[in-house]
Amino acid sequence: MKKLTLTFAVSVVAWYGFAGTDGVTASRGDLQAPRPDGFSIRGGLVEGATDGPDFWALEFTRNGERYKLDNRADCRRRMEEVSGARRFIWEGLSLPGATGMVDVVATVRDGGAGQTEWLLKVANRDDRWALRKTLYPYFRNVARHRRCDLLYPGIHLGAKLMRNYKRAARHRTSEGGYTMVTAFMADGEGLYFAAHDGEGRAKILCWSAHGDVWFETLVENAGVPGRAADGPGYPVVSAPFRGDWWQAAKIYRAWALRQRWAAKGPIVYRHDHPRALSEVDTWFRLSSSMRPDTAAALVSRTWPDLKTGFRYYSWNVEVSGQDNGYPNFTPRPNTKDVVADAKARGIVVMPYVNGKIWDSALPSYRDVVPWMVTDERGGVVTEKYSDRPFGVVCPSVPGWREKLLEMEHVVVDTVGANGIYYDQIGIAPGKPCWNPAHGHPLGGGRWWTAGYHDALAAVRARTEPKGVSISTEGIDEVYMDVVDAFLVVGRQAHQEDIPFFPAVYSGYTVYFNTEVNETDSPPALFAYLAQMTFQGVSTGTWRNKGLFDGRLAAQSRIIHRLGRLRSRMRDYLAYGCLEDELRPLDRLEEVTYTYSPTRPHKKHAAEVKITYPAAIGYAWRTIDAKRRALFVANVTDRPVNFRLRLPDGMVDSALTALPGEEPAQFSAAGDGTATLTLPGGVLAVIESPRP
Ligand SMILES: [Zn+2]
Repeated sequence: MKKLTLTFAVSVVAWYGFAGTDGVTASRGDLQAPRPDGFSIRGGLVEGATDGPDFWALEFTRNGERYKLDNRADCRRRMEEVSGARRFIWEGLSLPGATGMVDVVATVRDGGAGQTEWLLKVANRDDRWALRKTLYPYFRNVARHRRCDLLYPGIHLGAKLMRNYKRAARHRTSEGGYTMVTAFMADGEGLYFAAHDGEGRAKILCWSAHGDVWFETLVENAGVPGRAADGPGYPVVSAPFRGDWWQAAKIYRAWALRQRWAAKGPIVYRHDHPRALSEVDTWFRLSSSMRPDTAAALVSRTWPDLKTGFRYYSWNVEVSGQDNGYPNFTPRPNTKDVVADAKARGIVVMPYVNGKIWDSALPSYRDVVPWMVTDERGGVVTEKYSDRPFGVVCPSVPGWREKLLEMEHVVVDTVGANGIYYDQIGIAPGKPCWNPAHGHPLGGGRWWTAGYHDALAAVRARTEPKGVSISTEGIDEVYMDVVDAFLVVGRQAHQEDIPFFPAVYSGYTVYFNTEVNETDSPPALFAYLAQMTFQGVSTGTWRNKGLFDGRLAAQSRIIHRLGRLRSRMRDYLAYGCLEDELRPLDRLEEVTYTYSPTRPHKKHAAEVKITYPAAIGYAWRTIDAKRRALFVANVTDRPVNFRLRLPDGMVDSALTALPGEEPAQFSAAGDGTATLTLPGGVLAVIESPRP
C-alpha cells in the first residue's frame, strides 16, 4: 500500500502551541517532516498562527466578570510521552487576583486507524473564578492556500457539502439534528474533524474565514465556583483521509455504530422495531382540509400496492399543526373511527403531538412556569410560533415526561393509532438552562438530550409491546434507540444537501419525508424523489387531493413508481447500507429544475433551483453484505450513455428487470468499469451477484 503522506496535517498544531516558548522546542523544520507515529503526517496545510490561541482557549467567570485564558499565557510548560499519547501540560496559569491557580492538560492520543484524539482537562484551584467555556482543539489555517470544500452541518440529512467554502460560522451540533462532523476537502484528500461524544453534550462547531476550526463547549455547571466541570468531557478526533465526504461519513460510521444509540443493531434483525413503519413507501398528510376517511379510501385505491402512512394533523379539537393549545390534545369525536378505518386498510397512522413547548396563553401555563428553561439572568425562555409565544419546557423536568406519557395515552389508547409523532424533539437544539430547581447541571452538558432520551424511553416502554411506532422531527442520533423513525426536515430542497446521516446510519433507523410540492413539474418531482428514494428516504408527505382525482396524475404516477421501487428493493433502501454515489467516468450533461416554496415556513418562501447530472445514482448493500445494488435514474427526457466505475464488490453485476420501466442497457467491462445506456426518465437497478 502506498505510504500515506497527505498534505493535510494534524498534530503540527499541538507542537506549534509550544514553538517559540521556553518549554518544548520544536523547529519549524521538524514540524514539516513526516512523523511515523501517526500524530503528524505532514505539515503544510495546518499551520500554526501567531495572532491568537492555536491550541486551546478557556473562558472563566467570577460574579459576572469574564476572563479568557489561552495556550500562550505565562506559565510552566512541559510535555510527557506516555503510551500512545503526548500529554502537553501548562502549570500555574493565573487569573486576575488568582496567581498560578490553573493547570491545563491537553492529551493528544493515537486513536488508531490514522486518527488522533484530542482531550482537555482543566484543574482550577481558585474558589471564586469558575470555568465557563472551553474552545478546543484549535486547528489554525487548515488548507490556507487551497480552495477547499467543507462538510458543514445541515438540517436536511445532517450535512451539506459547501463548495470552495471558507467563511466564519458557528453551528450547534449533537442536539438538534446536525452532525458533529466537519471535514475540509480538496483534490481527493481531506481532514476529518469531529466530536466523538457518545452522550449528546451541547457543543458548538466553529470555523473562521481563514480555515480555522474548533469546538466551543459550555461546560457542565458553567461558571459555578467549585462545581464547574473540568473540561468539555468528550474527545475531538482528527484524521486525514483520501477521498471525499463519503470517506468522512465512513470514519464517523465506524465510531457511531459502536455508540449506545446504535447498540440495538440493524432494524431488520430487531424485534422491537415496528416493521410496518420501516416499510411505509410513501406518506400522506391528513388535515382538516380533507375528510380523513375519504383520504384513506383514495390512497388505497390509487396506490393499492404501496404501504402508506398518514401523518395526522387536526385530529384534535385544539387543531394540531397550527401551533396553539400545546400540550393539550383532545380527540375530535370522529378521530377514533378515522384511525380504525385507515388501520383496517393497512395504513400506519401517526397523529401529531408536540414534545417541546407550552402555549403561554393557556391558563395552565402559570402553574408550569417553573418547568420552563431559564436563562442565565433567571428569565423564562420562550419561542414564537405562528406569532404566539410558547414556553420552552426543560426536558429534565419529571412532570414533562408525565405529559409526554399522557399524550401517548390519548393517541394510542384512546384514539387507537399505531404511531405517534412527537414534533420538535429531534430538531430542538439544547437551550442552556440555569434553573437550579431542575436538579441538572447548570448551563451546558448532557442533561438536555438525557432528559428527552429518558422521557422517550418511558414512552417506548409503553408503545413497544403495543407495536406502536415513535417518530420525531429531525434526525438526532442520540435518540436512535428510543425513536423508530426520523422526519427529514427539508423545509426546502437545496443543491448542497448530501445524505450524510443515511451514509452513517442506514439500516439502523428509518428516514421519511421529502419536502417538495406535488404540484412541481413532473420531471422536477421525478428527479428529487428518485434522489431521495435512492438515499433511503420514504417519500411524502403529500397533501394534495389532486393526486387522486386526475389533476396531478403524472405526479401521482411518479410517486407510485418510486414507492414500488422502494417496496421491491426494501432489503437495500429500507434495511440496507448506503455505500456511495454513482461515479461516472464520462462527463454527464446537467439539467436544472425549479422547486416551488413549501409551506408553511415563510422564511423559506423562495423558489429553489437544483442542478443534477443527467444520471443520478447511489450504491447500496444488504445489511449482511451478501448483495449489492446500484440505483440509477436518468433525470432528463433524453437518453444518456456513459461509462461508470462500478462500486466495490460489483464487478460481477447485471441489470435487474423492473416492470413498467423502459429497459436500460448495461455492460460490465470486467475491470470494474461498465457502460450504461438509459432512456429518458428511466429508473434502473444493477445488482451483484447477478439477479
Ligand atoms: Zn432546566
